[in-house]
Amino acid sequence: MLCRKPVLATESDAKVKETTDDREESVCYSFLKISQCFIGDEKGPPASQTRAHLPGTGKVNQVGPTPDHPPFFGRALLGLTCRLRGVDTLRVLKEIEGAPFRPAEEIREKQFGELSALLAHAEAHVPYYRALFRSLGIRSQDIRNWDDLAKLPVLTKDIIREKQRDLVREDVPLEKLRPHFSGGSTGVPLKFFRSLEYMAASDAGTYRNLMQCGWHPGEMIAFFWGGNDKLYAMSRVEFELRQFARRMYQFDPFHSGEAELADWAKRFRWIRPRVILGYASTIARFAAFLDSRKQSIERIKGVFTTAEKLYAPQREVMERVFQCKVFDCYGSSEVQNIAAECRKGKMHINTDFVVLEEDRTMEPGPRPFLLTSLKNWSMPFIRYRNEDCGYLSQEQCSCGNNSPLMRLEIARTSDNFLFPGGRVVHGEFFTHLMYGSDGIVNFQFHQTAVDEIMLWIVPGQGNRQAREEKIQESIRQIRAVCPGHPIRVEVREVDAIPLSAAGKHRFTRSDVGSADAPAYGTTAAEISS
Ligand SMILES: [Zn+2]
Repeated sequence: MLCRKPVLATESDAKVKETTDDREESVCYSFLKISQCFIGDEKGPPASQTRAHLPGTGKVNQVGPTPDHPPFFGRALLGLTCRLRGVDTLRVLKEIEGAPFRPAEEIREKQFGELSALLAHAEAHVPYYRALFRSLGIRSQDIRNWDDLAKLPVLTKDIIREKQRDLVREDVPLEKLRPHFSGGSTGVPLKFFRSLEYMAASDAGTYRNLMQCGWHPGEMIAFFWGGNDKLYAMSRVEFELRQFARRMYQFDPFHSGEAELADWAKRFRWIRPRVILGYASTIARFAAFLDSRKQSIERIKGVFTTAEKLYAPQREVMERVFQCKVFDCYGSSEVQNIAAECRKGKMHINTDFVVLEEDRTMEPGPRPFLLTSLKNWSMPFIRYRNEDCGYLSQEQCSCGNNSPLMRLEIARTSDNFLFPGGRVVHGEFFTHLMYGSDGIVNFQFHQTAVDEIMLWIVPGQGNRQAREEKIQESIRQIRAVCPGHPIRVEVREVDAIPLSAAGKHRFTRSDVGSADAPAYGTTAAEISS
């Protein structure tokens, strides 16, 4: 369940609210029970007996004797909600589902064609790139091959912060674009823009990943992802209806103590998800929780982890408890759908979404990645350094997907924070508090005791008052996490924040051993290294 923020003012308010919640809970369960009868996707063989389709090829990856069937009503419901949201996701999915299975040469040619179109658009309609091409004395059509692309300057987070408005396309009114913030723990959150078309493509790319395990559009997805103010403001009934109609039920890692995990287990039996998608650490904690109580969840076809590094013990507990394969996916808020693991355990680049380069100006070894998003024409990111590192591989995979392979060497890590009363909050919650921050160059939330957080701030240019307000609002939201348990938050402004032993900056850090992986057989040191 996605928990709403604790906003109860008094005990009597709390009692009234509790009664209302109980009533809503009962209504919601009744609704879910009845609706599942209509959707009917709980029927069908166990996941271990399903067959995974190789999209667009007509081929079937046989993993069991009995095929299952697409859920007619679930798919219709999904199509309807997509239309109401103004996104044509299922049509886009149809267009792209076979793309990775085309011959390798064709894939690469198509990718370059899409890159050329993006460069021409950026030169024509985006002030930053128009000035960039002019300063280089070239036109976008002079980029004729991959070596030419490698000569274009790198786009850094600092440039995006400084030139933000110049990076937005000028041929579409700004109010038609959707603002968004980068999450993760690799940088101070960036504000950027995207369109409805981009969001449709992005969802379609995610669906294409999920289809690898035999998932059909319309089957319920259990989505482990941080909540936001819009969701927290919804009534329980509104929330349940929304999740049900979108065929994606959200579980909130920002509120994931033992009580919530027990509730999630109950809810899983009602919503009957076929796949699980989201933060690796939270899904693994949920699997460990089920394991410790000897509970199992049946007919999950696949688990798809993303947003942070997936560790071997996490994979093991998820595969054992959910009895299916775990597919690790690589993406970020700024550039989504970068790569996804296949059934053979190889990480394939989604070449119709992104151009991925190693930064060849750096020493051999795991080099920083440079990403060009082929789908975001609202605010083009061309050769964007997102501060992840890894390798491109020349290896071929035998799974049928002909997209090139990559290996991620260093990825994001976030600690979970354990608070009084057993409340567990995923580290990404704290990064979100800094969305839209003005005049903050760097920060770190460091939990030093169960009821104490140090907030380190590296101030920069910008409105000092806005910065102060942002910090005060963050403190208020942290304290609201545990009503009745005072949390001390100390703010210190410094010139720099020390890097971790691995040389990475960590935006969230907890010394309170607990909520991370130990429950599923690894150590806190492994998790945070
Ligand atoms: Zn493969």
